[in-house]
Amino acid sequence: MRPAEGVRLAPLTTLGVGGPARWFVRAGDTASVQAACAWAQERGCSLFVLGAGSNLVVADTGFDGVILQPALRGLVQRVDAGTLTLAVEAGEPWDDVVAAAVAAGFGGIDALSGIPGTAGAAPVQNIGAYGQELSDTLVDVTAVERGSGAVVTLPAGSCGLGYRRSRFREDDRNRFVITRLQLRLERGARIPSYDDLAARLRELGVSHPGPADIRRGVLEVRRSKAMVIDGRDPDARSVGSFFVNPQLTASAYAEVEAVAGRLGARAPGRPGGDGRTKVPAGWLIEHAGFPRGYTEGAVGLSSKHALAVTNRGGATARQVVELAARIKRRVADTFGVWLRPEPLFLGFGDDETVAFLRKANE
Ligand SMILES: Cc1cc2nc3c(=O)[nH]c(=O)nc-3n(C[C@H](O)[C@H](O)[C@H](O)COP(=O)(O)OP(=O)(O)OC[C@H]3O[C@@H](n4cnc5c(N)ncnc54)[C@H](O)[C@@H]3O)c2cc1C
Repeated sequence: MRPAEGVRLAPLTTLGVGGPARWFVRAGDTASVQAACAWAQERGCSLFVLGAGSNLVVADTGFDGVILQPALRGLVQRVDAGTLTLAVEAGEPWDDVVAAAVAAGFGGIDALSGIPGTAGAAPVQNIGAYGQELSDTLVDVTAVERGSGAVVTLPAGSCGLGYRRSRFREDDRNRFVITRLQLRLERGARIPSYDDLAARLRELGVSHPGPADIRRGVLEVRRSKAMVIDGRDPDARSVGSFFVNPQLTASAYAEVEAVAGRLGARAPGRPGGDGRTKVPAGWLIEHAGFPRGYTEGAVGLSSKHALAVTNRGGATARQVVELAARIKRRVADTFGVWLRPEPLFLGFGDDETVAFLRKANE
């Protein structure tokens, strides 16, 4: 195994900021994943697993360790009594997995169309959109345990999957390299109850949408918000949503409603888990004084979506995290809500701005 040295990471991320990796390995099979883990361990250096870099902010100083990019490929489908089982290798682009399921006539992940990234990263934040989450269909995850090199199979129920959470992101952050997922889908479509998607389906003249209709509607809505990767659209040079939608207790939501009333607005909200109310973070950001298209030199907010911090060309990671921190502070000062960031931060060490971004009061 011979890792490359000094590999630039910015072009390997969708936000396009950050410095180089000291070492870089692309692993096409499980044995190469195990070898890379052992190589890093023998040298006592840190190892970070990189997918397609669509949920990652890399520090300007880069990463002083090994970047391991799983590039295992393969998608095996099995249909059995109205059920589709998919075995997907970690390096498959996620949207190809959705396209394959929809082409076979199965729903369940159709509303997750257009989410960038690899299949291997999908459990890390339990990807979700339009009322669906990976956890609805995930059966199990196969992974290499970094310390021992052992290949383990983790049932979905043991993965700690929640709203943009999992054990892979939290308690077991540096423990596993995911190499394969198994999903189980049922035939038919559950119709997501999201207004913009429902409106788009109506415009398309679809009254009883199947998985292919949902996929088409979702892709069109996402494209209109620059939430698909499109090299021609500067609003898409982002990590997607920079913050997750907060799920507020009744008293925290009442506070948001009271502030909204004073601003002459009505606070939106949908039922979240545990009797909480999920509030769109983009709405909080706009009403705290950061409109869509807000610009500060090389960084700004998408002109279509106040939730996406964008690199307008030549931005640094420092500029990105400083703007995100100003937004978080203003939302906290205005509404008493501490937004939780969605992307991961790599190479920032104990940087104060990033520590502030990670702080939550949920
Ligand atoms: C325009 C845009 C729209 C988006 N829309 C959505 C959305 O609707 N819903 C949503 O949930 N997300 C969304 N995202 C975020 C992102 O696409 C997902 O989080 C995606 O799953 C990240 O995949 P990735 O391969 O790019 O992972 P990376 O960004 O490379 O890595 C993300 C994390 O996963 C870890 N990781 C990656 N691969 C593995 C592996 N094989 N084993 C172990 N750990 C691994 C990394 O170490 C890192 O911690 C969006 C992003 C963009 C840019």
